[in-house]
Amino acid sequence: MRIVLVGPPGAGKGTQAAYLAKNLAIPHISTGDLFRANISQGTPLGREAKSYMDAGNLVPDSVTIAMAEDRMEQPDAANGFLLDGFPRNLGQAKALDEYLRDKNLTLDAVLDLEVPEDEVVKRIAGRRICRNDSSHVFHAEYNKPEAEGVCDVCGGELYQRDDDREETVRKRLEVYHTETEPIIDYYKAQDLVVTLLAMGKVDEVTKRAMAALP
Ligand code: ADP
Ligand code: ADP
Ligand code: ADP
Repeated sequence: MRIVLVGPPGAGKGTQAAYLAKNLAIPHISTGDLFRANISQGTPLGREAKSYMDAGNLVPDSVTIAMAEDRMEQPDAANGFLLDGFPRNLGQAKALDEYLRDKNLTLDAVLDLEVPEDEVVKRIAGRRICRNDSSHVFHAEYNKPEAEGVCDVCGGELYQRDDDREETVRKRLEVYHTETEPIIDYYKAQDLVVTLLAMGKVDEVTKRAMAALP
């Protein structure tokens, strides 16, 4: 299965991707997590991405597309993958189509997680992620770790992302509406979009997502 997850920042893409990828036995590929791993390792790619991320803007396509394709080339992605946070604009969506077409592959579905804006704001405000691995995601009220401030998965320290501060969140939501939302129509024209109201408990959303996927 080759699936793309879309939805506003804070919709629960990363949270759902972790469960869906496990259920479907495919790797979870998050460009946000890849950028954050590069930042914590101090790579040149991380240094370039950081200024864009801190401002709530998209990292330039050339950098992002190369990084995503490199990840999709890894052996564990040979039989499918769940893309989380990529593509994020029309240029990236077209680049992904071209990449897949070259390999005679196609997407199976684009899962659009819909969450009202006031809920997204609450989810982002309480989001806490792990220093060791930003795919370990918790929430201060809705998805608490066993011990406060400690990652259940690996024992790492939990913290709030720099770009989860209120001013940056507003910018990211604006970028979502102007740059990312148009890809939903692009994929509707290919009849790939599965829309899911992503409200309710995490495990309920996962169940509905599994049922909705082709
Ligand atoms: P969220 O899960 O809250 O939507 P992400 O972790 O996916 O956030 O992304 C965080 C930031 O990383 C984005 O605001 C953007 O700066 C950068 N980023 C992630 N994916 C992409 C992408 N496909 N294209 C450009 N920038 C990206
Ligand atoms: P995204 O990757 O779309 O930015 P995340 O998966 O990081 O979103 O989720 C954003 C925040 O909302 C996290 O703190 C997460 O624990 C929390 N969250 C995720 N799903 C739900 C849910 N169904 N109900 C309440 N909170 C949720
Ligand atoms: P419970 O303790 O009943 O299992 P949860 O652990 O799912 O509930 O949630 C803890 C708290 O977060 C509860 O007060 C619940 O109402 C609230 N909560 C959970 N999910 C959401 C959501 N999607 N939107 C708003 N509040 C939520």
